[in-house]
Amino acid sequence: MINQSTEKKDICLIGGGHSHIMAIKQLGMRPLPPNINISLICNDQFILYSGMLPGLISGHYRPEDCYIDLKKLCNQAKITFIQSEVERIDYLSKQIYCNQHARLSYDLLSINIGSQPMLYDIKGATRYGCPIKPLKQFFQSWLKWLQAAQSTDEPKHIVVVGGGAGSIEIMLAIHYKLSHTNLPHVNFSLICARPSILSSYHQRTKLYFEDYLNKLGITVIRGKRVTAISQHKLVIDYDMTLNYDFVVWATHASAQPWIAKSGLKCDHNGFILVDQYLRSVSHTDVFAVGDCANFIHTSIPKNGVYAIRQGPVLANNLIATSCNHSLLAFKPQKYYLSLLTTGDRYAVASWGSLHAHGKWVWLWKNYIDRTFIAQFNQ
Ligand SMILES: Cc1cc2nc3c(=O)[nH]c(=O)nc-3n(C[C@H](O)[C@H](O)[C@H](O)COP(=O)(O)OP(=O)(O)OC[C@H]3O[C@@H](n4cnc5c(N)ncnc54)[C@H](O)[C@@H]3O)c2cc1C
Repeated sequence: MINQSTEKKDICLIGGGHSHIMAIKQLGMRPLPPNINISLICNDQFILYSGMLPGLISGHYRPEDCYIDLKKLCNQAKITFIQSEVERIDYLSKQIYCNQHARLSYDLLSINIGSQPMLYDIKGATRYGCPIKPLKQFFQSWLKWLQAAQSTDEPKHIVVVGGGAGSIEIMLAIHYKLSHTNLPHVNFSLICARPSILSSYHQRTKLYFEDYLNKLGITVIRGKRVTAISQHKLVIDYDMTLNYDFVVWATHASAQPWIAKSGLKCDHNGFILVDQYLRSVSHTDVFAVGDCANFIHTSIPKNGVYAIRQGPVLANNLIATSCNHSLLAFKPQKYYLSLLTTGDRYAVASWGSLHAHGKWVWLWKNYIDRTFIAQFNQ
């Protein structure tokens, strides 16, 4: 189809999430219609790839192996990169309000700002402990703690709060790292609110990790909720206390509160409600992808696999909307491959009921992750 429209269109992408980087890559591979201007607004130029964070903590990767340079990626695709945090959007006047940049106007918008661990129901959690996201800040806090911890001989207690794949990978990466440093005595606890860890995984994968955590001496506290935290002390289920030295918040995903406040239709958890075209159900000129969005008629897990697959559909639909073409529907796959690392150079593969583990799984994941990063940094 031929684009009849010559009217100038400004497309703004907010957040350098997985879907946007895939969409930018896709958009950079073909000439854009001359009337279309695209900008990416992100609060950081260098984004840390979550799939490689456990390996970075373990020491298998150098920081430079795990970052994507958004500015470079945008330059290649002839997209303007703006480094700033978006604080508010006025959907009526189509204005974006940033903290380090003048107000921006848009014709078409896409939001891919990810999620953050749910902390609001834990007293003191926004002050104490380290949320796993933003990943870069988490990694910096971890390095700072590690450096300070190495200068004392006292025993340490590391606590990870959460029972999903990310929490377990981080716990095992920290365990591996600390067993290769000179810290004399470290205890590890994983606190999981559900009755079992990895609740969305097949029983075989669950049992594998239950067994592995047990073998490493990591205490798993199941079916208990952290209700409060103060300096060096956690409160569990309002009455039990636990001392800690380093706490990682890896609780379930929550949305950035300003999104729901701005008038875009969101679900009761503050995630933007979208249709099968990745378009807001309340505003047809707004798209939302990745962790910050929820589909109105279906539910998909919040992970990088689905976010990445939304990228090409989003790229198509942004251009199609600008040119009055028909949109593509996003069709989520039923099962997805999950590759979970165990701290050392070993990993577990889980796909539906299929389960495998070994050094070869880690080598496979390493290949996938390095290839993924390389396509953006070349
Ligand atoms: C330790 C760990 C390991 C994981 N491993 C895997 C894995 O192996 N495979 C997998 O599929 N999933 C994995 N996940 C899950 C995965 O990280 C997320 O589901 C995925 O990142 C979702 O990506 P996204 O595109 O929604 O947003 P994100 O990748 O979180 O990106 C959001 C972007 O928006 C920017 N941003 C945020 N707020 C603003 C704002 N207000 N203004 C401007 N910019 C903003 C951020 O800087 C960031 O660049 C892991 C998660 C963790 C915690």
